[in-house]
Amino acid sequence: MEDNYDAEAARAIIEAENVNVTEKNPLGELFKILSGLAVTLVCVYTFIFLASGVVLQTLREDKRTNLEEYLTKSHKQIPIEISAKDRKRIERVKNKILTADTDFPKTSKLEINVIKNKDLNAFCYPNGNIDITEPLFKELKTDEELTFIIAHEMGHYKHKDHLMHLRRNISNAATVILFSVFNTNSNINTVASSGFELSELSFSRQDETNADKYAINMMNKIYGNAEAGIRVMEILKEKNKFNIEFLSTHPDLDRRIENIRKMTK
Ligand SMILES: [Zn+2]
Repeated sequence: MEDNYDAEAARAIIEAENVNVTEKNPLGELFKILSGLAVTLVCVYTFIFLASGVVLQTLREDKRTNLEEYLTKSHKQIPIEISAKDRKRIERVKNKILTADTDFPKTSKLEINVIKNKDLNAFCYPNGNIDITEPLFKELKTDEELTFIIAHEMGHYKHKDHLMHLRRNISNAATVILFSVFNTNSNINTVASSGFELSELSFSRQDETNADKYAINMMNKIYGNAEAGIRVMEILKEKNKFNIEFLSTHPDLDRRIENIRKMTK
């Protein structure tokens, strides 16, 4: 009798467990899989990010310069002819910044050109060359305003943003490729890659803030104030009001204007 009782109790326990198995929360399971995947992704990304960082940071100066030239080559644009007066003005501003920052890396090419383009924008290339688009150059009426744009771009070179950008791209690409190979669930791959795009965007915003800080610092040193920085940002905001492409790559103009205001003496 007692034996029978035990057998029944055991059956009841087994049944209860079976019920538990079938009632397992599918959302909980998905959460476990996703968090496991997230941890692995973060580990792979961090490892590649650190390793590529060590490689890029310890590159000999000549090798780094070669890499910078290589990365610049494919983006090179043809400069337009500018007047001798404008050329002098650009050189004058550049020299003011170099006098204010004696630590600026000598590896920088620092050729500053004006290019034909419909947008108001400026770019720093991996080798330190800077392009300013013609419509933006025309808007920069004073030396102070031109200083803000040139110093901002020089800030990107000084902070090695181009190499750090390469490092993020290497890490992103390697991680996404790895998971595309080992994971056939396309939904999870999409989640993984979109997560990286978001993290890259926030890194880039940080780069922009640091380049703004550098420019403001230079302007405070040269002119004793950085009011022109706010004016330039307001011009960029106003003139690019309907430029979806510009706005998508510069999503936080208002926040940057606010930060510049705080940094201005
Ligand atoms: Zn920038």
